[in-house]
Amino acid sequence: MILCVCLNPSTDVTYAVTELTYGASHHVEVVGRRAGGKAINVARVLHQLGEPVLATGLVGGAEGSAVRADLAAAGSRIVRITVNNDEAARAVPEIASRLADMGVTVPIVGDFHYNGHLLLARYPDTARTLAKYRINPGNVGGKRRDENFRTIIRIALDNHRPVRIGVNWGSLDQDLLTALMDENARLTDQQPAKEVYIEAMLQSALRSAAVAEEVGLPHDHIIISAKVSGVQDLLTVYRRLASRCDYPLHLGLTEAGLGAKGIVASTAALSILLTDGIGDTIRVSLTPRPNGDRTEEVHVAQQILQSLELQSFNPQVTACPGCGRTTSTFFQHMAEDIQTYLREQMPLWRAQYPGVVEMKVAVMGCVVNGPGESRHANIGISLPGTFEDPKAPVYVDGQLHVTLKGETIVPEFLEILERYVERTYGEGREAIASTQ
Ligand code: SF4
Repeated sequence: MILCVCLNPSTDVTYAVTELTYGASHHVEVVGRRAGGKAINVARVLHQLGEPVLATGLVGGAEGSAVRADLAAAGSRIVRITVNNDEAARAVPEIASRLADMGVTVPIVGDFHYNGHLLLARYPDTARTLAKYRINPGNVGGKRRDENFRTIIRIALDNHRPVRIGVNWGSLDQDLLTALMDENARLTDQQPAKEVYIEAMLQSALRSAAVAEEVGLPHDHIIISAKVSGVQDLLTVYRRLASRCDYPLHLGLTEAGLGAKGIVASTAALSILLTDGIGDTIRVSLTPRPNGDRTEEVHVAQQILQSLELQSFNPQVTACPGCGRTTSTFFQHMAEDIQTYLREQMPLWRAQYPGVVEMKVAVMGCVVNGPGESRHANIGISLPGTFEDPKAPVYVDGQLHVTLKGETIVPEFLEILERYVERTYGEGREAIASTQ
C-alpha cells in the first residue's frame, strides 16, 4: 500500500492527498521498492509550501519540526507532486533532497497535464528524481497528443520509471469521445450518452496503455485509473476495466465532496470494488474545510482498508453509541481519550511493538453489552450505567482482569492498556509468556 501526497510546489497552499496502494496482480517498481503483494504501507505527509519552495515550512522552526514529526510518524512510501510548470519541475529535486535531509526517503510521483512531455524533457534531473509519472493522455496536447504521450513514455523508459495512465470523466480524449458519439448516433439501438462516456474512458486508457507498450514500456510498469464522481458509475467503470485488462488499477471517487458525504461515498465505492478484488491503489478525495486537516483523507483511507480487514494500521476502538442507560457523557469522553491516546502512542508503538495494530479495545457505556463486547476485544472496559454500581470491570484477553472504581478509572485503564501492549507486543513477550 502506498500513500501519495499531492503537492503543488508553485503555490503556497498546504494540501495533502491520500493514495493507498496494495498490490494485487502486479508489482509496480518504484525506485527499487515493490508495491506488490499485500504489503501495505501507509503514510502521511504534510507540507507547508512557500517561497523558496519547501524551505521555511519543512526545514526550520517549530512548524518544520511538526511537519518532520508527521513525516517520521507516517512512513510514507510515495509522495505525489503536481508538476505543472517550470517552477514546479525545477523544484522536484530540491523537494526530494530536503525530504532526504529529513530522513524521508519517499519516492515522489509527478502529476503531469498538458506539458508533461516538455517539462520532463527540459528537466532531466526531475525526470530522474521522480519515481513514477502520472499522465492523463487526454491532456497531453491536441493534434500532437500521441506524439507527446510517446515522448513521456520514452523518458519513462529511459529512466526505468512506471507510469500511471489516468483518465477522468471531465478530461476525456475529445476526439475519441466524438468518434464514439458519432458511431452511437448511427446505431438503430442507441446507447445512453453515459454508456458512451464510459466506453470512451475505457478505450482511452487501454489505447494509451497499448501505445506505451508499443514504445517499449514494460506491461508491469503501467497502472491505470479511470475516476468518476458517482458511486454507481465508478463501480461500472472499474468492473469493466478489470474485466478487460490485467494492469494494476488505481481507484478513487473523484470530487467525492465535503465531510460525511465525501467519506460515505468514497467508502461505499471503494469498499465494494476492493471486496470484489478490484483495485491496487486507492485514493480518498475529500474537499477540506477552510484550514481543515487534509490528513483526514489518510485516516479515512486507512479505516476503509482496516474495516475490510485488508490491512491494519492502528488499534481499533469499539465504543457503544450510548443510550438511556448512560447517565452522562463520561464514557464518550473516555472513548475519545482512549482513541486519542492510541493515536498519539502509535508513532512509538509501531516501531516498538510489532503487531499492536491488530489490537482491539472495547469501551462500553454499561454492563448490558459491555462485558460481552469486552470479552471479544483484547482489552475492554464497561463503565457503570444508570442505577448500576459505580464500578467498571476490565477484561483482558476475554477474562475479567480487575474492576476499577472512583475518579481515576481512565488513567488506571490506560495504565493497564500500556502494560498489556508491552507484555503482548513487546520484545520480551515470549520470555514473559514462558514465565507465566
Ligand atoms: S452498552 Fe449499554 S450504554 Fe452502551 S448502547 Fe448498549 S445498552 Fe446502551
